[in-house]
Amino acid sequence: MRIARFTTGEEPQYGVITGELDEHGQLDEDAVIVGLAGDPLYVGVRPLDVEHRLTDVRLLAPVLPRSKVVGIARNYRDHAAELGNAVPTEPLWFLKPNTSVVGPGDDIAYPSVSNDVHYEGEVAVVIGRICRDVPAAQATDVIHGYTIANDVTARDLQRSVNHFTRAKGFDTFCPLGPWIETDLDPQTFVDGVRLRTFRNGDLVQDGTTADMVFDIPTLVEHVSSTMTLLPGDVILTGTPAGVGPLEVGDEVEVVVDGLGSLTNTVKAR
Ligand code: MG
Repeated sequence: MRIARFTTGEEPQYGVITGELDEHGQLDEDAVIVGLAGDPLYVGVRPLDVEHRLTDVRLLAPVLPRSKVVGIARNYRDHAAELGNAVPTEPLWFLKPNTSVVGPGDDIAYPSVSNDVHYEGEVAVVIGRICRDVPAAQATDVIHGYTIANDVTARDLQRSVNHFTRAKGFDTFCPLGPWIETDLDPQTFVDGVRLRTFRNGDLVQDGTTADMVFDIPTLVEHVSSTMTLLPGDVILTGTPAGVGPLEVGDEVEVVVDGLGSLTNTVKAR
């Protein structure tokens, strides 16, 4: 099931999206969104007798992380290597504030204090219920679903202070969307799901989730052994090789097979 958050110009609401995805993560023209009563993360899926054509609504970030976005660093060998880093022997992670989240189609604001802002296309895990100390074998019990993220990073700031918080914490540096797919099994990502990033239509990242160093259940176990996860918290699972700079005016699109396509435009802040 694809659960989206959307607006028709009034209060945001939730809905379920129908339709077939093509190989570029686009839905067919007949796709519709069926309205839901309340937030399905808390009240379950309660369809209303309201339906919109997808072209008549604006999709929003499908989740507003209740407390945190956890980012996993260097979780693809080729990406660790391209930045001259070793592959971690246990998950290496950081936090992005929930104020960095924006939705599909929203602008990424290029901060004036950076000259080297990078895209990082990633698979995002949305947590479904409050949990702590979750064994990897039970991770599916606490996962609500999956969406796409762009872990936007001011690479120059990350290097100059050797710290992630500021470099990854700017407002708009965590585009999420276009919806949450709830029907996937984490094993699907171990088997391999193609992840591509396009900058102004040019293919710049083309990886597979089969190359993740630590799989999603392991990440849930590791993070939840340190901090309680709340419904709506998000874990970004790392980016494959091919990261690179964005410029003001660029369009950046992340396509993950089965999850859709997330497109944002870069504007000066
Ligand atoms: Mg990242």
